[in-house]
Amino acid sequence: GAANVISPGEVVRDCLVLTRHQIEANGIETQVDITSDQRVLMARTELQQVMVNLILNAVHAMPEGGTLHFRVRDVGDPPRIAIEVQDSGTGIPPETLRRIFDPFFTTKQAQGTGLGLSISQTLVSRAGGGIEVRSEPGQGSRFTIFLPVTDLR
Ligand code: ADP
Ligand code: MG
Repeated sequence: GAANVISPGEVVRDCLVLTRHQIEANGIETQVDITSDQRVLMARTELQQVMVNLILNAVHAMPEGGTLHFRVRDVGDPPRIAIEVQDSGTGIPPETLRRIFDPFFTTKQAQGTGLGLSISQTLVSRAGGGIEVRSEPGQGSRFTIFLPVTDLR
């Protein structure tokens, strides 16, 4: 899609509305800390797709409920915006972690396509950004999207 000048903080809020039912039905508490109002250049629907992927993965990782923490903040030099999605779910063992961005890699029995993270990585890198993940088995996972900020309005 064509790139738009968008606010990641707004996109996070929109995606929380879109996924509110799945979050609440699974007994998951959310926390949202948005401290950046910078803009980025990316198709809005593509960033929504990435965020919904990350949120639904986090929900699947917390079958007994938990907390989902969102942060949108500025990071320096070069100026970028970081969008974090942190869950308190199962976490990812190291041998799995190396494969999660591979197309069709899934650990889900029936309903997983294994395409969510692969497509997300493609969309974010096309916008000049990247995705990082940190995970601790038994503690949870944190996915961070970095995107370059734009001066365009
Ligand atoms: P799918 O969700 O269809 O399995 P994804 O590409 O979205 O495909 O994710 C690939 C795999 O990465 C998942 O099957 C799961 O093993 C792992 N994964 C992704 N996000 C999380 C998370 N938040 N917590 C634990 N595991 C995760
Ligand atoms: Mg997925």
